[in-house]
Amino acid sequence: MGKATGFLEYERAEASYLPVGERIRGWDEFIVPQAPAALTTQAARCMDCGVPFCHAAFVVEGQSIGCPLANLIPEINDLVYRGELEKAYLRMSRTHPFPEFTSRVCPALCEGSCTLGEHEPAVTIKEIERYVIDEMIRRGKLAPRMPRVSTGKRVAVVGSGPSGLACADLLNQLGNAVTVFERADRAGGLLMYGIPNMKLDKNLVLGRVGLMKDEGIRFELGAEVGTDYPVLSVMKDFDAVVLCGGSTAERTLNVAGAELFGVMTALRFLTQSTANVLDGRLIDGLPNIDGRNVVVVGGGDTGTDCVATAIRRGAASVAQIEIMPEPPEERGADNPWPLWARVKKTDYGQHEAIELFGADPREYCTTVKEIIGEAGKVTGVKTVKVEWRQTGAVEISGTEIERPCDIVLTAMGFTGPERLLIDQLSLDTDAAGRVAVRQPGSFRTNTPTVFTAGDMRRGPSLVVWAIDEGRRAAQCCHNYLAER
Ligand SMILES: Cc1cc2nc3c(=O)[nH]c(=O)nc-3n(C[C@H](O)[C@H](O)[C@H](O)COP(=O)(O)OP(=O)(O)OC[C@H]3O[C@@H](n4cnc5c(N)ncnc54)[C@H](O)[C@@H]3O)c2cc1C
Ligand code: SF4
Repeated sequence: MGKATGFLEYERAEASYLPVGERIRGWDEFIVPQAPAALTTQAARCMDCGVPFCHAAFVVEGQSIGCPLANLIPEINDLVYRGELEKAYLRMSRTHPFPEFTSRVCPALCEGSCTLGEHEPAVTIKEIERYVIDEMIRRGKLAPRMPRVSTGKRVAVVGSGPSGLACADLLNQLGNAVTVFERADRAGGLLMYGIPNMKLDKNLVLGRVGLMKDEGIRFELGAEVGTDYPVLSVMKDFDAVVLCGGSTAERTLNVAGAELFGVMTALRFLTQSTANVLDGRLIDGLPNIDGRNVVVVGGGDTGTDCVATAIRRGAASVAQIEIMPEPPEERGADNPWPLWARVKKTDYGQHEAIELFGADPREYCTTVKEIIGEAGKVTGVKTVKVEWRQTGAVEISGTEIERPCDIVLTAMGFTGPERLLIDQLSLDTDAAGRVAVRQPGSFRTNTPTVFTAGDMRRGPSLVVWAIDEGRRAAQCCHNYLAER
């Protein structure tokens, strides 16, 4: 371990953010990492506790805790403390192919279960991860790793989100010839078009995809399997197919006025906003946001990304409507360590709104009853308060109000994967509409030679889980092909 008494001597310190007034003028990442010496000190806080809950996802009271990738966190922290960054990166690479993504967007499940976190603030595991990978990129250490064997098998991966990329990466390293089909014009899935640039710089996604191409993986972009490429041809041309198509069927508002100009789903808005940031394309179907009043429906992370994006596009005001009650500020008795803390999080988008407009944009226990319009365009929303009973949310009469606005962004989550490939391949689905697998822990569907991973199998989740799924599906597919 690093410094035996580090956790007694040093307090947790965190990265800072660029000032709001500065960061909202552009789309660059807004986190300012701590200096290397400070991060070495932070690594010294790791206690080498003996039973590191942070490093392996396992299930406690029905909830999984710790890093889904089983990153060797105490060992990485120790190497960082000793200044052995390249060794720390090698250790990280054993379990994790893309730390440049998670070290920016992961909620850090590891930190929620850090043993030090039972009594003191947890070790800054995520920022240490970022320090290691950013240093490797800065030092030019990310060279292509050419596969050492060839199995002679060909595998198609459909979808290039984190699950598809992780799956392609491992299949390729195991010696299979991999082609990734992606319907978008750039690879990355929600890493590219979804998560905004200020949270994850798109050059990092392009850089990783470039490296994977150098390692021999083929990327077919603008290629939708099921329309541009008939799925049966893909199945004929490849020994196996891994479907990593995500869970992108968006839940929409089912109220009067939902068809008005100015109502847009979050994913469409965020996708088009990023396309506009990257190459100046106009946002299709959305009026200029500059100087407009925006209502975001949905208080989750996607809603927060909409708040921050609308602010950068010059919104005059932003409100965020959330049907659920306000979460507690501190862990409840039913939510002890090492479970993930279900507490209120005031994220970057809310901080920006508070500073610009003087108040937290979120309104809890509130839902939209109607969207009001004139001449086909949104002019306001009618909202109502709800109270939560055992049967669900019940509207409180007399609490309806009309709020003038010009834009309504719906960020209410996803209903499941799109049906195109499910229908064409007659895939079984579960009660939640996700692609079903033959048995728990397996990634094989009911159709021979077809596997699935990521949000398409798991439902809407996290980047780190998608990477884990992609890697496990790759191993499962590789084993299957090796036995044939
Ligand atoms: C706005 C937003 C913000 C988020 N922020 C975070 C965050 O900060 N941290 C975090 O951990 N998670 C975040 N998530 C969740 C995370 O992005 C997803 O869980 C993750 O990307 C799922 O990965 P995936 O590979 O399964 O699917 P996706 O990333 O959805 O990728 C699926 C890909 O498949 C392609 N595809 C689908 N069908 C076909 C077809 N027939 N042919 C070819 N290509 C096809 C799609 O175009 C897409 O590129 C966010 C999600 C959203 C929507
Ligand atoms: S991937 Fe996420 S959970 Fe795993 S170590 Fe990194 S920040 Fe923690």
